[in-house]
Amino acid sequence: MEYIIKGYRHTSFFKYFEEISAIPRGSGNEGGMVAYLKAFAEARGIYCYTDEHRNVFMRKGATAGYENVAPILLQGHTDMVCEKNGGCEHDFEKDPLDLYIENGMLRARGTTLGADDGVAVAAMLALLDDEAFEHPVLECLFTSGEETGLFGAHGFDCSLITARRLLNMDTSPDGEAIASCAGSSDLMFVREYDKEKAHEHTLNLTVKGLAGGHSGADIHTGRANAIRLMGRILARLYDDCPFHLVSISGGNKRNAIPRECEAQIIVLDMEKAKALADEEAKKIAAELVAADSRFHLLLRRGRIVESCLSYKDTSAVINMLTLPINGVYSMSPVNPDFVRTSSNIGIVATEEGKVMASVMARSSCDSEMDALLLSFKRLAKACAFDYVLEDRSSGWDMNPNSKLAADFLRIYKQLFPESTPVVNGIHAGLECGIFVSKIEGCDALSIGPTMYEIHSPNEALDLASCDRFCDLVRAMVSEK
Ligand SMILES: [Zn+2]
Repeated sequence: MEYIIKGYRHTSFFKYFEEISAIPRGSGNEGGMVAYLKAFAEARGIYCYTDEHRNVFMRKGATAGYENVAPILLQGHTDMVCEKNGGCEHDFEKDPLDLYIENGMLRARGTTLGADDGVAVAAMLALLDDEAFEHPVLECLFTSGEETGLFGAHGFDCSLITARRLLNMDTSPDGEAIASCAGSSDLMFVREYDKEKAHEHTLNLTVKGLAGGHSGADIHTGRANAIRLMGRILARLYDDCPFHLVSISGGNKRNAIPRECEAQIIVLDMEKAKALADEEAKKIAAELVAADSRFHLLLRRGRIVESCLSYKDTSAVINMLTLPINGVYSMSPVNPDFVRTSSNIGIVATEEGKVMASVMARSSCDSEMDALLLSFKRLAKACAFDYVLEDRSSGWDMNPNSKLAADFLRIYKQLFPESTPVVNGIHAGLECGIFVSKIEGCDALSIGPTMYEIHSPNEALDLASCDRFCDLVRAMVSEK
């Protein structure tokens, strides 16, 4: 194999990164990686366990002098997001990534690079391969399916792990460690309704022009939720000129702040309803953040429809749109800039005699998530919706006494005295949340080199930051 990354210190890390870049490894297609990792371990006589989820776990004994140092677990995911530019011929099922370097950045021609999270795989292999490297019991876990739902981490049998210190390597940039992440709950409010006969023109209302964003990372930005705005407008109308709802549809992903929402209603005094809706939209426009400056409400007379919801069901839907807690629920008591708990109504739809609203709640604190879910449950009961909890994962709350976080800050500063390392949390999911909940007494931290535009064909890896990342990993693992 021809290697292209030259002139950096950690040659073994870069060699392994290039080797795994030649193995197709989109989520769900980690078989090639499992075979490669197994062969790696076999060739070196390293203990290696694989499971039906395509996770790979290796363990190497402590080197001389490290027998009494606590074991450490390194972890990262083998799968990558497969995105390519229009016109790019790359076949993610069989082609190696076409790596190239531009201004110190490693990229893949036309596709995602998979630095997220190939850097973790390369870092673990470089350490396992280094016979001169001194370390305590070293456990390395290569997980699968992270990008599509953390499936490997969920499925792995953690009783195999002896370490109570976890260094996850799925974070960017260099110099910033993550010590907290959010768990999530997917829930739905559902209500069945009987259709009433109708034969009227509708008024169609469409909320448009909002910025939207990620329901975790952008939840604190104050960006408006199109479904909530529609709820507010409908509630205002219903107060003065009650109407029958015909249908409603907004958002398409639970984990995105919805940008658009459309409702159809039958109302006796259409002109009055339009005037009231316009008036409310003007008030809303004056309140919104700059990112939402393109907000507008479209009002159009619609076609004649044959059925609609009763007043009672219409009123219940308005409750569903306006009453659930939405947006930031609480901030972290350890770091007041960091959101601890939030929720987002991501989708609303009427379909086959049912109206449903999907909500994604996030929290780094499991007991606060319990409390939020209880409030949703109470609300559903009070408003006569069904409440369905579809999925839930644990959060990882910041531990102010984390030894790994303290080690990181001290070692990073020793290695790079000019720098100012920081420890943060993220209001989104990381595999650490699962491991911390499955491994009793586990101290965890997530680190990584500097990457840009992950999950897109513009993904780039800062090569110089990889040298620093490798220095850091080695120093943290061999810390006595
Ligand atoms: Zn990742």
